[in-house]
Amino acid sequence: MQITVGGFTDLSTIDAGELLAFSVFFQGCKKRCPGCHNPDLQPFAGGLKMDTQAIKERIWRNRDWYEAVVFVGGEPLEQPEALEDLLEFLRGTNMQSWLYTGYEPNEIPPQIKELVDVIVAGPFRDDLKTGGFPASSNQTVLRRQGN
Ligand code: SF4
Repeated sequence: MQITVGGFTDLSTIDAGELLAFSVFFQGCKKRCPGCHNPDLQPFAGGLKMDTQAIKERIWRNRDWYEAVVFVGGEPLEQPEALEDLLEFLRGTNMQSWLYTGYEPNEIPPQIKELVDVIVAGPFRDDLKTGGFPASSNQTVLRRQGN
């Protein structure tokens, strides 16, 4: 499955609460939020085209380290097939899946919602920024029961 990524963070201690996480940055986002934390990831042209299999292998090699895998951007929901493919891979592991999206909860496809452990939904609003989690107070945090 093809995916365009802007990059990775190999060992994040801030993207998934206190969990050690691998973060995948999707390339491309239409939202254009003022104060966007990753403006370099807004253009759809650019980034690195690769196969999701390479990402799965990278995660699997380091599975003893990772407690979570984070999908962020850019906008992961602009590449729904690749996102779903990676989420399905994670369902068979003991790693949590986290999704940061600029879309509201009711705009997230149900088949993706079902696969994610923690979702931070809604566009970043600079005028409502919290300095903590979530980044702005209009955002909704959805947790699968038990996470
Ligand atoms: S949704 Fe996220 S990546 Fe997209 S413009 Fe807003 S803050 Fe930036």
